[in-house]
Amino acid sequence: MDERLPVDEALGIHVDTPAGHGDAHCFRNAGGIVTDDAIRSAMLTCNFFGTKEIVIVQHTQCGMLSANAQDLEKHFRDKGIDSDNIALDPTLPELKLEKGAFAKWIGMMDDVDVTCMKTIEAFRNHPLIPKDTVISGWIWEVETRRLRAPTLDPEKRARTDVTSVPFGVNGKQPARWS
Ligand SMILES: [Zn+2]
Repeated sequence: MDERLPVDEALGIHVDTPAGHGDAHCFRNAGGIVTDDAIRSAMLTCNFFGTKEIVIVQHTQCGMLSANAQDLEKHFRDKGIDSDNIALDPTLPELKLEKGAFAKWIGMMDDVDVTCMKTIEAFRNHPLIPKDTVISGWIWEVETRRLRAPTLDPEKRARTDVTSVPFGVNGKQPARWS
């Protein structure tokens, strides 16, 4: 959802045009991660609207690196909000988290590249996404305005902020894919 991630420029497409007939269905969310709503939209477009490819784009300097989700949960608890009993979707009260899963649900990350690779895997392995869908994931470098493949190679990540370390975040995030 970050305003520094220009999807059209990054991918060389026109998501929408004034006349309609855009190139892609674009779903944005905090961190560009797998959520139930991302799966819901991808399930619909890939099974029923003719979409053949999913492109995941995350980005450096992501705000989702800038705090530990447990501290964010505490923010709500300190305000008297019971994060174990929240209607995630008020129109679908059946959609519930297990007790203690709220921080994990927030989806903060330790490392953008690792998250991107896990996100690709999660879409590839999801039973509602057709097996022949082409799925790739990319990192938009805010610093250079370039797209690159996710990598663990320290050389290739050297000039960009892709972990929570520069943000001084304490502790590991509750990882969504564990
Ligand atoms: Zn972000």
